[in-house]
Amino acid sequence: MALMLTYITINFNINRQYSIYIRANQESRDQRIVGEFRDDYISNGKKGWNVDSGTSVVREATISGFSVKLEDKNEKTLWQLEPELVLAQLSARQPEGAPPLSLEQFNFKRHNVVVDSETVGYVTIGQFTPLLISTNEEEFIFSLTMSVLASAIIGSLLIFAFSFFLSKQLSEPISSIASTSFKLSQGNFKSRENLKTDIMEIEQLRQSINTLGEKMDQQDTLRRRLISDISHELRNPLNVLQMNLEAMIDGVVPISGERLSSLNNEVIRFGKLLGNLNVLKEFEEKSENQEYKELNLRALCQDLYNNFLGVAKEKNIKLSFEYYRKDRYYIFGDYHSLYQVVLNLLHNAVKFTPENGKVFMTLKKDSNFTYLEIRDTGFGIPEEDLPNIFERFYRVDRSREVIEGSGIGLTIVKRIMDKHKGMIHVSSKVGKGTTFSLKFQNPSPADLIHHRYWENI
Ligand code: ADP
Repeated sequence: MALMLTYITINFNINRQYSIYIRANQESRDQRIVGEFRDDYISNGKKGWNVDSGTSVVREATISGFSVKLEDKNEKTLWQLEPELVLAQLSARQPEGAPPLSLEQFNFKRHNVVVDSETVGYVTIGQFTPLLISTNEEEFIFSLTMSVLASAIIGSLLIFAFSFFLSKQLSEPISSIASTSFKLSQGNFKSRENLKTDIMEIEQLRQSINTLGEKMDQQDTLRRRLISDISHELRNPLNVLQMNLEAMIDGVVPISGERLSSLNNEVIRFGKLLGNLNVLKEFEEKSENQEYKELNLRALCQDLYNNFLGVAKEKNIKLSFEYYRKDRYYIFGDYHSLYQVVLNLLHNAVKFTPENGKVFMTLKKDSNFTYLEIRDTGFGIPEEDLPNIFERFYRVDRSREVIEGSGIGLTIVKRIMDKHKGMIHVSSKVGKGTTFSLKFQNPSPADLIHHRYWENI
């Protein structure tokens, strides 16, 4: 269809352009011939026509196949090369079997011969129309059209082959990625896309799908772990309670104040766990656009330091708090939430540090940020556990056995830091200790002025 259209358009345009060209040629030829007549008229000294005027054109007319007639200003014919004669000559040159030519096919054009702004005669030129485009010329046009058409066909084939190749290059990896993402959506989180491609955008898509798969896989593992952790955490105290109560009911063990108090401790532990879950829920529910106030981080840390001195002393842990007196550690935030952050970190540091260890709390700042570091010389966290410690219920196996905990403290810390657009980083070495580093954006002086202004209204 496209080729057909191309053929018609090319043919039409070439014919049109060619006819315009031929007509323009004819027009200038006619003007030249009229000019020759005028020159003859002028060169005849007596300024008039004679029998020979313009006869030099007869030879050209016979060869090119047009008729000529010269009339004086009174429209009296002086001489002419009759169209019948031209027709006879043309017919004689026609190939065998060609359609006969007729006089009606002559197209006459009459031109004025003007000398000194005065018409001195008329020259009529009759052109045989079908010969405007001769057979030779038709053949030429045809072969030209054909070669353009051939180029169009070859071009189209090349484009087709190239686009086929290109679409294959594009569609293969895309459909493969689509099938991988379908598998992921079906819950097959281990499936990955391995078909690499040179097309940058698709390669990026492939890598993103693989990263997405990894994340989903991790989430899935955590989710499974979460469910088993919750049930484990809840089942243990319940079991202890149930078994002991049954034993007392059956009279296997006597009911004593000491036993009841130990059972009460289990109930308290159970309650604490649920309490922690509640705290987490509260932090998750707190609105994103919480109004933060300017707060003194040093004073907050100082309070906690004072509160922890007793606990640390009990375990014979040396607790220190360092900061530069000349610096002011003001940031924007919610006091209670940030209190909870430092509390959880200090609590862990003391909890996971054996007797005679050390816990350091350090405040620092530069022009853009305020940094709080809580470092201990405790058990440390194995490298493979580091990426997970902020997840709910995640507890490093060793601490699960020996130290009480719920695995929620750090999750709360992370949530609060995220809400404050702060950063938290942990580095640790087993047997050496752990460092939690917090980073807060300093408020700009303009922020502080604006804030204080609104506070005082
Ligand atoms: P919990 O302390 O109640 O177990 P967290 O969320 O506070 O829960 O901590 C998660 C886990 O990270 C802990 O169980 C512990 O294994 C590890 N962890 C946290 N802080 C420290 C620390 N300072 N030193 C060693 N391990 C730590």
